[in-house]
Amino acid sequence: MGWQQRAACRDADPDLFFPTSDDFTAVENARQLVEAAKVCHYCPVRRDCLTYAIESGQDFGIWVGHTPRDLQTIRRERGTGISHPDIDVEPMCSGCSLLFAMPAVDGQLCPLCEERAA
Ligand code: SF4
Repeated sequence: MGWQQRAACRDADPDLFFPTSDDFTAVENARQLVEAAKVCHYCPVRRDCLTYAIESGQDFGIWVGHTPRDLQTIRRERGTGISHPDIDVEPMCSGCSLLFAMPAVDGQLCPLCEERAA
């Protein structure tokens, strides 16, 4: 199963993520950005989605609550060696900082810490 199959937006209206213009200073688009970001906030595949959007050069639509301009900024920063915490930093156990096996979600405990906490 690909990450798209687990996306929180899988059954959402695609128009929510693809406004008619990229002018996010317009009230309607700004409102749409907020609504889309609410869906993205709880999405389990945020890392995959952002990685895809950045690496495939998406320059239209809302990805992980980011506007195309945000994506350009992330792309430019990564091009100069600045890592992005949602893409370049591996998820860590919040208890002991051991690396999770993918596809873990940051903030979760590793099996060892879960066992200790039980
Ligand atoms: S992060 Fe947002 S845009 Fe990306 S797959 Fe999840 S819900 Fe969809």
